[in-house]
Amino acid sequence: MARWAYVNGRYLPHDRAAVHVEDRGFQFADGVYEVVTIVEGRFADLDGHMERLGRSLGELRIAWPMAPRSVEFILRELVRRNGIVNGSVYLQVTRGQAPRDFRFPEKARPTLVVTAKRAASFATPAQLDQGVSVISIPDIRWARRDIKTVGLLAQSMGKQQAAEAGAFEAWMIDPDGTVTEGCSSNAWIVTPGGVLTTRPPSHSILNGVTRLALLRLARERGIPVEERAFTLEEALAAREAFLSSAGTFAMPVTRIDGKPVAGGRPGPVTMALRQAYLDSVAGTAQ
Ligand code: PLP
Repeated sequence: MARWAYVNGRYLPHDRAAVHVEDRGFQFADGVYEVVTIVEGRFADLDGHMERLGRSLGELRIAWPMAPRSVEFILRELVRRNGIVNGSVYLQVTRGQAPRDFRFPEKARPTLVVTAKRAASFATPAQLDQGVSVISIPDIRWARRDIKTVGLLAQSMGKQQAAEAGAFEAWMIDPDGTVTEGCSSNAWIVTPGGVLTTRPPSHSILNGVTRLALLRLARERGIPVEERAFTLEEALAAREAFLSSAGTFAMPVTRIDGKPVAGGRPGPVTMALRQAYLDSVAGTAQ
């Protein structure tokens, strides 16, 4: 089946989809994005992703390229055209095309790009059975990590470092020794006392849509929850550790910097939250 993309009003074959060289997304990383997962034909947390897109746009004073409902229509249409049952859509909005100048252009039409991708699976049996490993790296990013911008070079470098170390993700560490988040995921632990712990939203992290859903599901299930920063040492001594994102849901972390965490096995809270999340996406939650 041919692969389709959407660029500024047109559905195009994926390999011919392009933006102008003076698009500000290309020149300045002056744009924001979202990734929405599709599980068995259903969008996971579409409303949450649309809401965060609006927030990111607002923080950067980029206008919606069209009404949010119309953006949603395009997402659905692209999923349909690509025949996706399990996979993801990527959407990017930039400030648009303008002669290169650091200052915001007075008149530019925001660029909207949407691509879609199939997923053979969301996790391998080994990842679910044995968990994944992460490495720790210094957090070298800018100070507005709450905005989901396409300026992802620090995260790209971190992911490359993780891959070269044979790890799934890199957890970034603030100068004060606390874990901020993963390069493309939020970081969680269950403390030895059984408290589900993750960093509170601030300018230091991206407030993950999956993070918010998992917090809600945990509270509904009566799991003790604390939103606070935790250190790498705490993570190493935790009962469980995991990461969350649109594409990984809740993924058990069983090694940090080569050292086993939580006895090297995925923990029950992690796996229960992963299942609860998948059930909520499927609409089977009680
Ligand atoms: N933190 C960062 C830096 C991310 O890039 C992402 C996702 O790409 C997340 C957290 C998780 O966010 P979400 O659950 O909305 O996918």
